[in-house]
Amino acid sequence: YHLKMQGTEKMKVVSDLAASVAHEVRNPMQVTRGFLQFLSRKSGKDNEDHFALAIQELDRAAGIINDFLAFAKPEPETVVPLDLTEELKRVESMMSPLAALNGGEIRLSAPDRLFIRGNSSKLAQALINIVKNSIEAIEGEGVIRIEARAEKGTAVVSIADDGVGMDESQLGKLGEAFYSTKPEGTGLGLMATCRIVELMKGRLEFRSAVGEGFEAILRFPLLEEEASPLPFPQAR
Ligand code: ADP
Ligand code: MG
Repeated sequence: YHLKMQGTEKMKVVSDLAASVAHEVRNPMQVTRGFLQFLSRKSGKDNEDHFALAIQELDRAAGIINDFLAFAKPEPETVVPLDLTEELKRVESMMSPLAALNGGEIRLSAPDRLFIRGNSSKLAQALINIVKNSIEAIEGEGVIRIEARAEKGTAVVSIADDGVGMDESQLGKLGEAFYSTKPEGTGLGLMATCRIVELMKGRLEFRSAVGEGFEAILRFPLLEEEASPLPFPQAR
């Protein structure tokens, strides 16, 4: 297996400005999407394909913008104690239908609870970006294993698939802006993930080899339970 650690240097490429512009652009796009759906329903079969294509392209643009948005710094008050196990369960149930569509299966194993500090929606996005790649990497059938555990003051999450994998030079480019091998890819997903993990004071590494699948390992400082009485305020 080749190994690569994510440094901070590569993540500074996209500025806060990009994030604030992205925010502003998202609303009119959503309005446009709504009108396209409305018009599509009204015009019936004739232009169905054209409307579908327009909506699909709009969604692709929205995907790029969503990935950009992850670079905006989360507000300090939205960083709260989180049960990583709960978050992983949520990601599993959100992504299982898509995995099934691609012939894949997600298997989660995690302790009853595992507390860290972070932002729930950003963490979900970071995890979803990884799981989505795994779903796209499995060909016909495959298993995506999500395993979490506590290890000496650290919460460790491994997300591994048995898909196509990557070679060393591809792995070297991982996390660079716009690096994608997919015709429809944005090449921003893992860059956003790296940034989010960094903001949560976590660490991220990737392992892969061609034909051997892919593994992402995330580490976050563990929050000791005695230091954080339940119930936690959940910022969702
Ligand atoms: P995108 O998915 O839009 O291409 P990402 O930043 O999510 O952008 O991923 C960048 C590239 O890394 C992908 O295009 C793919 O080549 C590679 N990659 C990421 N995850 C995996 C994986 N689980 N298996 C194989 N290749 C992967
Ligand atoms: Mg991706």
